[in-house]
Amino acid sequence: MTEEQEVFLKHIQKQGLKRTAQRDLILDVFLHTEGHVSGEDLYQLVREKDPTVGQTTVYRTLRLLTDAGLAREVRFGDGRAHYEHNYKHEHHDHMICSECGKIIEFYSPELEAIQDAMAAKYKFKLTEHLLRMIGVCSTCRRSSAKPAPRKELAAHAAKSTRR
Ligand SMILES: [Zn+2]
Ligand SMILES: [Zn+2]
Ligand SMILES: [Zn+2]
Repeated sequence: MTEEQEVFLKHIQKQGLKRTAQRDLILDVFLHTEGHVSGEDLYQLVREKDPTVGQTTVYRTLRLLTDAGLAREVRFGDGRAHYEHNYKHEHHDHMICSECGKIIEFYSPELEAIQDAMAAKYKFKLTEHLLRMIGVCSTCRRSSAKPAPRKELAAHAAKSTRR
């Protein structure tokens, strides 16, 4: 049994649930995903291995994985929850490009410390945070903002000659 399977087994036993082949399969499929998967993505992947697994079972098991600390829920602003590996993975936050959907993962110890300090200031017991920065990535900025710099330069030149 892998460490992740042990964590999962302990968690479901604590919940008074039984270990089932379907739950094991869902865990296994999830652990083999990369990056960020939605419940729907995971459901499709599980169905490829076993078409008898229902969507509700997948969603419920995903909840169990999250509660057990194996998965972490992340939201990218499209109204759907995505999940990524959480167990023994470094915490990180996300920047999301609103043009192409690209996701940049980053970690800032300064930002983390500020969040802890804010929580402490308001006597707030912080259990988790979801930091999502929305914007336009460098690739999309390059392809959409070509004529802009010229105008800016011209305006700037006009201003400086006036002086
Ligand atoms: Zn963070
Ligand atoms: Zn982009
Ligand atoms: Zn991530």
